[in-house]
Amino acid sequence: MLDIRPIPAFDDNYIWLLRDADSDQATVVDPGDEEPVLTALEAQGRTLGAILVTHHHYDHIGGVEALRAAFPAVRVFGPEDPRIRALTDRVREGDAVECPGLTERLQVLEVPGHTSTHIAYRIGDALFCGDTLFAAGCGRVFDGTCEQLAASLERIAALPAETLCYCAHEYTLSNLGFAKWVEPESAAIAQREQAVSALRARGRPTVPSRLSEELATNPFLRTGVPAVRAAAAARAGRSLTTGAEVFTALRRWKDEQ
Ligand code: ZN
Ligand code: FE
Repeated sequence: MLDIRPIPAFDDNYIWLLRDADSDQATVVDPGDEEPVLTALEAQGRTLGAILVTHHHYDHIGGVEALRAAFPAVRVFGPEDPRIRALTDRVREGDAVECPGLTERLQVLEVPGHTSTHIAYRIGDALFCGDTLFAAGCGRVFDGTCEQLAASLERIAALPAETLCYCAHEYTLSNLGFAKWVEPESAAIAQREQAVSALRARGRPTVPSRLSEELATNPFLRTGVPAVRAAAAARAGRSLTTGAEVFTALRRWKDEQ
């Protein structure tokens, strides 16, 4: 039985900790900082078998070298990218990643856009999507392109609706603020905002979220919805034809907030 829990880091990052109940080896995703990981492992009496990296940003890899020093046998998986050092295994689209201590393997998806080499990992109904898809939002475009990110989100949108999306930041409440600008009439967004506010008031994470919920409330997965297209076109001041154009207008709009 796979157990997944968040290790909060910095102001709003989540480092995801995966473990099988009967193994003493855990896996972490995107350890931007080593300290909270070491503390969590110690509390659970576990060692570290593997590290999964989604992309090169410091808040996702800052703890990798120190964790390798602490656990010299640890396997470190990540995309082919010279900006990510300290990997033991470079992985690409379609690879099946075998982590010491996990029975099931993880499938690699290339989802560029936030960065040019961003990848995601899938295991069972869980998707570790880094800074590609956020709950009710998506990552900014750094060295990838809007077209890439739009296509990557389309791929994610086509996964089974019960997929649980484990993103790397707690941005949900502010993302819903933007979603409301795009679709002010949406009852689904209003409801989600209430539920998310209640969780945050109790200091609880709002991640993971179901893909079905994202499809209903996340503007960046709703570029084909007439109300979203109309809002994006009004903001851009011109008519928008393709989903990628709508996406680009939405991303720019949110960047200006
Ligand atoms: Zn990032
Ligand atoms: Fe990040």
